[in-house]
Amino acid sequence: MGEWASALQRTHEMNGGLEILRIALGDRSLVIAGPGDITRVQTDAIVNAANASLLGGGGVDGAIHRAGGPAILEACKQIVERIGRLPAGQAVATSAGRLAARYVVHTVGPFWSGGKRGEAEALASCHRESIRIADELQLASIAFPAISTGAYRYPVDQASQIAVSSAAAALQKAAYIREVRFVLFDTRTLEHYAQAAHALDKPLM
Ligand code: ADP
Repeated sequence: MGEWASALQRTHEMNGGLEILRIALGDRSLVIAGPGDITRVQTDAIVNAANASLLGGGGVDGAIHRAGGPAILEACKQIVERIGRLPAGQAVATSAGRLAARYVVHTVGPFWSGGKRGEAEALASCHRESIRIADELQLASIAFPAISTGAYRYPVDQASQIAVSSAAAALQKAAYIREVRFVLFDTRTLEHYAQAAHALDKPLM
């Protein structure tokens, strides 16, 4: 990852919060932004930290369904009829209803139960799969919240490193995606993700 050129930028963003850090690799960027609300972000896709039922919940999931309206839940119900519950680490895309984004990618983060139950691999998979699905849809940009770090209690120092490194690796492999953005809701989470992004010049896991 020696080729990642990081540039500290502080430019005000009208939607979703302040851009804190942009890391460029050729024509691709990994952006850390916040404190901000992902429902207001104008990337082609935003990622929802869903639960396995896909029927909505609290936290960012509730915020996305509230802001996007009933079309998102309808689309989720059709997916559940087809495939049942969504296992941790997997992702599916729906329309985005009234949101500015074109798609919502729903992924199920792992619930933290000590770290020895495959949590790290599942969390990395959430990021890889979400980017892969957005890339299949030929989208150029995708925004992530801090998956699993709320109700699912994943320690944010570890989650941030896994999220940023797995997203950076998937971004490098993508054919269409040019920007992966993390939109963090609070300052503490934002600081952890910014720190993890600064460490990207170390080898990826
Ligand atoms: P999980 O169940 O995967 O832990 P949560 O929604 O409980 O998901 O929390 C994940 C993260 O999303 C937390 O950092 C929480 O503060 C954050 N969050 C909550 N609402 C929003 C929002 N509107 N935009 C961005 N992040 C949000």
